[in-house]
Amino acid sequence: NKQVILRDYVTGFPKESDLNIVESTITLNLPEGSNDVLLKNLYLSCDPYMRILMNKDLPPELSTRSYSPGSPIRGYGVSKVLESGHPDYKKGDLVWGTTKWEEYSLVPATLILFKIDHTDVPLSYYTGILGMPGMTAYAGFFELGSPKKGENVFVSAASGAVGQLVGQFAKLHGCYVVGSAGSKEKVDLLKNKLGFDEAFNYKEEPDLNAALKRYFPEGIDINFENVGGKTLDAVLLNLRLHARIPVCGMISQYNLTQLDGVTNLPSLLFKRVHMQGFNVSDYYHLYPKFLEYLLPRIREGKVVYVEDIAEGLENGPAALVGLYSGRNFGKQVLVVAHE
Ligand code: NDP
Repeated sequence: NKQVILRDYVTGFPKESDLNIVESTITLNLPEGSNDVLLKNLYLSCDPYMRILMNKDLPPELSTRSYSPGSPIRGYGVSKVLESGHPDYKKGDLVWGTTKWEEYSLVPATLILFKIDHTDVPLSYYTGILGMPGMTAYAGFFELGSPKKGENVFVSAASGAVGQLVGQFAKLHGCYVVGSAGSKEKVDLLKNKLGFDEAFNYKEEPDLNAALKRYFPEGIDINFENVGGKTLDAVLLNLRLHARIPVCGMISQYNLTQLDGVTNLPSLLFKRVHMQGFNVSDYYHLYPKFLEYLLPRIREGKVVYVEDIAEGLENGPAALVGLYSGRNFGKQVLVVAHE
């Protein structure tokens, strides 16, 4: 059973060498009386939060979830059930949810695990558009953003797993949407394939405040926050009255030992802003409603999804670490096995 294990806790930017590929043995039978599920992992999802779980010290609400050095890292994935001791799952079922970075995993069925009923779309979509990042975009934009037709929406890390969907949801909802991303190719993708009204390369903008003023002369109604730091600070100077900020993530801060200072917080007060952090796991009860919204739109080509596919567990460390330098072009997926 090939595995990707954490070598030791990480400080600063993660490196490929922080993760090791090892071989171990696993019995492909369920222990007698077990109600766990034995999975063959097919696709693994590379997600920015995984870096946070490599820290030695975590906030109390996360501490039970930190990775253990010497053990395979955990994450979301798409898997096939080989054996099940739980009545909700049976041999041959396809599922997405919590698994480990290895070929075969024994996981408690009580963890996040959804049965996959629709296989006319690519299975890898359940690591992205139809899985956790998709639910994140949906809950963050619709539930926390409370969008209205005609509003102005800004999305950072806009070409990524979550951002590309937020932009498309905003367009379908009749909003004006601008995204920022870290390369010319990503900016072209946002404007030419994903339907954003405008997009810019934040690395080439010496003054983010001026850039946002250029794209939002009347200000931002919804800022979907993926990045934090300097981008958030500039956004705070460009908000409209009663703006909403779903705080989805702050990837620019995950590897820093000294966080960037955000100085423009008084805007929240003057502009009567609703800024709220959220965790997608609190919104999984909306999954059936989300599928009902999104599946027909995928089938009709009204929503598209860009994936960056890496092949083989041995390429997992590079794929995961690449998220923090923007190497991924769209949702970063890792293929472990083709069914
Ligand atoms: P992406 O697919 O967008 O990959 C990460 C991207 O972040 C990179 O490609 C890079 O794009 C950008 N990035 C990396 N470092 C920086 C930096 N220092 N400054 C600015 N941009 C940077 O990831 P996801 O779409 O999966 O995740 C987006 C955000 O959503 C993350 O913050 C993540 O933690 C959060 N999230 C939160 C969830 C929740 O429940 N709240 C659930 C899922 C995700 P570029 O080339 O454009 O710089």
